[in-house]
Amino acid sequence: MIGDDFAELKLFITGPILLREEVRKAGLLPEFGHRDAENPKRFEPIMKNIMTIAGSPEGYTPVIFNGSGTNVLEASIRSLVADSDKVLNVSVGAFGDLYHKLAVVNGKNAVQLKFTHGRAIDLVKLEAALKKHKPNLVTFTHNETATGVVNDVVAVCELIRAHGAQPIIDAVSIFGGAPAFISESRPLMYCTATQKGLGLPAGFGVAFISEEGIEKAAGVENRGYTTDILAQIAKAKLNQTLTTPNGTLANQMCVQLDYIVNDETVEGRFKRHENMRSIAGKWVETVDGYELFAQEGHRSPTLTTFKTPSYMTIDKLKEVKELMRGYGYLFDPGYGKINNELAEQGESPIFRVGHMADILPEMLEEYLAVLKKVLLKFS
Ligand SMILES: *Cc1c(COP(=O)(O)O)cnc(C)c1O
Repeated sequence: MIGDDFAELKLFITGPILLREEVRKAGLLPEFGHRDAENPKRFEPIMKNIMTIAGSPEGYTPVIFNGSGTNVLEASIRSLVADSDKVLNVSVGAFGDLYHKLAVVNGKNAVQLKFTHGRAIDLVKLEAALKKHKPNLVTFTHNETATGVVNDVVAVCELIRAHGAQPIIDAVSIFGGAPAFISESRPLMYCTATQKGLGLPAGFGVAFISEEGIEKAAGVENRGYTTDILAQIAKAKLNQTLTTPNGTLANQMCVQLDYIVNDETVEGRFKRHENMRSIAGKWVETVDGYELFAQEGHRSPTLTTFKTPSYMTIDKLKEVKELMRGYGYLFDPGYGKINNELAEQGESPIFRVGHMADILPEMLEEYLAVLKKVLLKFS
């Protein structure tokens, strides 16, 4: 039968993620009409619980977009950056670069500030760029999924504001795994998606939009339609989506957010992620030649990146991946573009371990024990 050969792998990649059994079962709940009385049974609790996970930031409206994280990022560019504006896209890796690309392909006046892979945003360099470019808006990544670096959103936003610019944040791979600090950092828009820290399949982008963001968008022309945050907000205020939602995912999201808020608790979830970050950090000390890649003090709670010893290569990491598959795991051999760059510089590659969503500390420990055995075969 079709599907019989679909492998039941434990995903330790950085999205999509392993789904809890209950989330998979919730995929069997009934389809519904998105303008019918059945809709609010799903979307009222979704909107309420998503705000709780965000720390209930005052003055922010949550919006569920169809599409994935990138669609929400693109909506922020289309709706918040006017033709007369200048946007500075700050990048600490591939997803920071993606924001810049979205600004450029949408015809915006965009400049970029890039940091070395593995490093967080340096406030001194950011300040110099703010003085030089005098942007109206600044985009940056809360948690860089390509490098495992987490930025200090509060300090970065404070500096951006001090130079008269407005921040917009991509938080796709951290939301649901750590505090969002929206109230403390006050971005125009804080963007995420379902398939990473929230523990759901891909299919919805999620945004928290400030009053200030709404005011800003009103003065921006050609916002598009599905990328128009004002059209999106009008429906979100009715607990609806602008266009037909994936009903299966809505059912799953309703079940999963209730679990996060009322069973695991938001605080418990954040603690579990911190615990997993320290498990990954302690493990590497037991594996000869391997090191943490991300800058100390800026290591992500949702994924960890590792620098391999000099004898490791991109091809050998592909072998590691296949060996791990044999143990029932999906291993992440690192972000391709970064590893190619490292190879060009004569350096060994990095790899990633995703420990986001509903992976438990004991599952991570089991995985790392198997991975250590496999890695040491190459030494
Ligand atoms: C995954 C990811 C995206 C892209 O999200 P999609 O849902 O794949 O569109 C953007 N930014 C970051 C930081 C990500 O981790």
